[in-house]
Amino acid sequence: MNFKKCSRCGNFYLSKGDVCPKCSSKDSFELTTFKTYIEQNGTENSIEIISQELGIQVKHLNRFLGYEEFKNYVNDFELSKPQSKNNKKVEL
Ligand SMILES: [Zn+2]
Repeated sequence: MNFKKCSRCGNFYLSKGDVCPKCSSKDSFELTTFKTYIEQNGTENSIEIISQELGIQVKHLNRFLGYEEFKNYVNDFELSKPQSKNNKKVEL
């Protein structure tokens, strides 16, 4: 039997996914929130900023980016990170 450690609460559990059954509903809610955010706002903001805006921890966002459904966005984040800090923010 393979026990896995939950990425959210640290409890051990026996099922698929990165989080235990107890955390899975909150985790999938945050994943949906993150996905919706990217669809509406693109990937101009860094993970740190998105984390603050959505109230989702950076470590979870980074984990979501490892998922198949975010495959297309990962490169965007890596490309936009160095520039977005200086250029785009000033217009606010
Ligand atoms: Zn958990």
